[in-house]
Amino acid sequence: MALSRALRCCQRVFSWIPVIIISSVVLWSYYAYVFELCFAFTLSNTYMAYLLIFHVCFIMFCWTYWKAIFTPPSTPSKKFHLSYSDKERYEMEERPDAQKQILTEIAKKLPIFTRAQSGAVRFCDRCQVIKPDRCHHCSVCETCVLKMDHHCPWVNNCVGFSNYKFFLLFLSYSMIYCVFIASTVFQYFLKFWVGDLPNGPAKFHVLFLLFVALMFFVSLMFLFAFLLIDLCGSYFWCGLFNLKERSCFSEAFSAPVFQNGPDRNGFNVGLSRNLRQVFGEDKKLWFIPVFTSQGDGHYFPLRTLCESENPLLANEGKWMEDGGSDEENENGPSVIIRMES
Ligand SMILES: [Zn+2]
Ligand SMILES: [Zn+2]
Repeated sequence: MALSRALRCCQRVFSWIPVIIISSVVLWSYYAYVFELCFAFTLSNTYMAYLLIFHVCFIMFCWTYWKAIFTPPSTPSKKFHLSYSDKERYEMEERPDAQKQILTEIAKKLPIFTRAQSGAVRFCDRCQVIKPDRCHHCSVCETCVLKMDHHCPWVNNCVGFSNYKFFLLFLSYSMIYCVFIASTVFQYFLKFWVGDLPNGPAKFHVLFLLFVALMFFVSLMFLFAFLLIDLCGSYFWCGLFNLKERSCFSEAFSAPVFQNGPDRNGFNVGLSRNLRQVFGEDKKLWFIPVFTSQGDGHYFPLRTLCESENPLLANEGKWMEDGGSDEENENGPSVIIRMES
């Protein structure tokens, strides 16, 4: 017991290493750009402009990175947890059929459209919670996270409903920061090759600034492109990159299962509405890391939902009876209960 607690403690400490690495690189880039480049080499009028733009990029980068790291993941509200009496009933019951009935009864009162691949109500045994749509259990955070996209080691946090906007902005400002550094340092890099730069440690800082900025930019670009595909759906990006439609990392690897079967694009309501879902209605706040996402993370509009369709899981007969494994076993244990037709 004490050993597992010590291991968990070590794991928590080590999980901060990627954040410390990124922070150290960024702090070094600040020192190299401001003190070694601007103060040492840039003697023209562009010096002030460089510094001003650099500081805007740097502040926005730090702000969004901070928010992506320290915004706690949203967890399902109380109404998705089993009540004390339901929990007792559920635990006392040993027959899977009866357990299924208990969960189905509770799920009928909740705005849930998706099930496990087996047709079972998506239930997290660890958190004792009926999972809302797009909610997944994170084995690193040890909790169910609303609209979980993925657990990102570089922010040591789950990217989900609460910080999806911050994470996208963090990637955007990181790329702008890298592009700005690379484009302004490039001229000094050329001078370095023709031997125009004075000797000293400053020129190596300049050289490394360019390499590091380009390296980070290329890595970020791939992740950013992938997230844009998530956000925009198939309408533009998938055609551009020749990729299939998807809605988030988790959904890219296991499509959410609806009454009519699995549909990777089930929550994709078009570019404009997807953007407003994440960034909110007020476009002035789109580029600032304040929370403006729509909804509460428990319910998301569906692409195919008809107005007349009952939003609750009333039509149980439509769910498939045959099994298959629960798609979320890797993320955490779920109770598999088959539905009767
Ligand atoms: Zn859970
Ligand atoms: Zn997590």
